[in-house]
Amino acid sequence: MVEKSSYKIIPIHFGMVYAFLLKGKNGRSIIIDCGIPGSNKNILEAMNKAGIEYKDVQLIIITHGHSDHMGSSYDLRKITGAKTVIHKFDLDIIKTGKNPKLHPTNAIGKVFSLFLGKTIKNFTTYDPEIIIEGEMPLYEFGFEGKIIETPGHTNGSISVALDDGNIFVGDLIMGGMLSKGKPNLPMYADSIEKTNDSIKKVISMSPKMIYCGHGGPFSLGEIEGLSESF
Ligand SMILES: [Zn+2]
Repeated sequence: MVEKSSYKIIPIHFGMVYAFLLKGKNGRSIIIDCGIPGSNKNILEAMNKAGIEYKDVQLIIITHGHSDHMGSSYDLRKITGAKTVIHKFDLDIIKTGKNPKLHPTNAIGKVFSLFLGKTIKNFTTYDPEIIIEGEMPLYEFGFEGKIIETPGHTNGSISVALDDGNIFVGDLIMGGMLSKGKPNLPMYADSIEKTNDSIKKVISMSPKMIYCGHGGPFSLGEIEGLSESF
């Protein structure tokens, strides 16, 4: 039997948003999302605390092109030298440096969008090193698992599915204060239909634990039936 790679999940919380540091074997590490512009300081601090050196981080995975998830990726990749990966369909967002128009799925989302436009900062544009379409295995980066497509919240939304059953879904599923700690559908979705399909896809994989960009993590039992609630 092949031994599973052991790794540690280090959640980094910036107010209402999460980023994740995955520390793997021999210190090899991956960063999933990286907060609003300026959040790199918190991530570097977390790396320092965990004994992760800049050179250990080879990949920054952007689950989608919203500035609260990729805002500090420009700085972070410059400092660490890590490659950034983003889906082809969210590339335009990085190229413009501005958040795209948000499509609220509920009343809270509508109210929030009135404020978000003013408070969410633009970000520095750059050319990500890895642009994917389809899946991307993570073995060469020291992790057993892959990046999968989970569109809906944005067209280029991706998730990180590890072979041991942990999955990081960005904003495909939202928890946190606004949904009283329960998993919910995203407040914004470019496509409700694709969001539903992607949630069904995640459920069909029978994940052990679902890590989200806002709130969570959640068990499979907690998210089952969620795609029916739109
Ligand atoms: Zn988002």
